[in-house]
Amino acid sequence: MEVREQEWAGAQAFAALLAGSGALRPGHTILQGGLHSGGWIEKGAIIRDPLRLDEVARVQAEQIGRVWPQATLLVGLPECGAVLSAFVARHLGLPVAFVHSSGVPGWHRMHVPERAERAVIVDDLIGTGRGVRVAADFLIREGHAVLGVSAWISRAEPGALKVLTLMPPPYPTWKAEGCPDCSAGYAPRYTGIRE
Ligand SMILES: [Zn+2]
Repeated sequence: MEVREQEWAGAQAFAALLAGSGALRPGHTILQGGLHSGGWIEKGAIIRDPLRLDEVARVQAEQIGRVWPQATLLVGLPECGAVLSAFVARHLGLPVAFVHSSGVPGWHRMHVPERAERAVIVDDLIGTGRGVRVAADFLIREGHAVLGVSAWISRAEPGALKVLTLMPPPYPTWKAEGCPDCSAGYAPRYTGIRE
């Protein structure tokens, strides 16, 4: 189940920050993996600025604290997800651990939890959702409860994982054969994009 809170003040704050940071890239886009879109988000515009990143992290922490007050651990996926999860955790007073989701999944040795935790996976932009699914499966195999995933925006079908986002995707995502820009004969403006 996916929870979206468009009316929530945090969603409006995030949307304003996204636009104000210059992260929005409108235009016919081919994403890495082959899906087409009406644009993409350059998350670097936020992540490279600690003040902006902390503002987003504060909003994300508020949402996590409200929906999952029982969380005992935040989990980030290297690299950007690890940085973000640490910023979010500061506002919640929770520990963090990092899971490698490419190759064989495993903990970063910095923190290998020793007891069963109630984990929330923290991410910025979810594309296909493969990384968070790999991390969630790993956490469950390790004996932890996965409350869900907190992300800024998700393009993926939520599937079995509960995904909490700050706002709906600003650009639609299409399979190549269903892309209206391609049907209208417009050349792509951006190609090979991995948000
Ligand atoms: Zn297209």
